[in-house]
Amino acid sequence: MSPRRKPCFVVQKHDASTLHYDFRLEVGGVLRSWAVPKGPSTNPRDKRLAMAVEDHSLGYARFEGVIEEGSYGAGPVTVWDIGWYENLTERDGRRVPIKRALADGHALIELHGEKLSGGYALTRVSDDRRERWLLVKTRDDAADARRNPVSTQPESVLSGRTIEQVTAESGG
Ligand code: MN
Repeated sequence: MSPRRKPCFVVQKHDASTLHYDFRLEVGGVLRSWAVPKGPSTNPRDKRLAMAVEDHSLGYARFEGVIEEGSYGAGPVTVWDIGWYENLTERDGRRVPIKRALADGHALIELHGEKLSGGYALTRVSDDRRERWLLVKTRDDAADARRNPVSTQPESVLSGRTIEQVTAESGG
């Protein structure tokens, strides 16, 4: 792995006990993960709740399929968006490493995906057993209050399939 390879981000649409979007960032060799019930928004006015969930392995980033009954998170998964990100977090004019930024509860990142791009802020708002964060689009050229990709672009960026098609094709 080249040290210059850009870290990846992925958003997986996951219809488990409730439909949600798993927002994952490559950090220190794993995918740090948040479950976002409403999915990411391109509108800077939307504050999307993001519940911290367990890390996943990097190899999971391109997983699409059905998690079998009896396993944690049983249900279909599609890759709703994938790409790379840049950490833009700064303090006192200096770049803060992403791991440090997340430990401190605030990170500013720039996404380079197919559906999502530009700046997003991740801010921790509670330290409960399951940390609650907010995922908010920053005001930049990629901000667009009229777009709503969660509803208008539901299909996988890898296969073009909807989550319903993934379910049907698995015989579920
Ligand atoms: Mn999930």
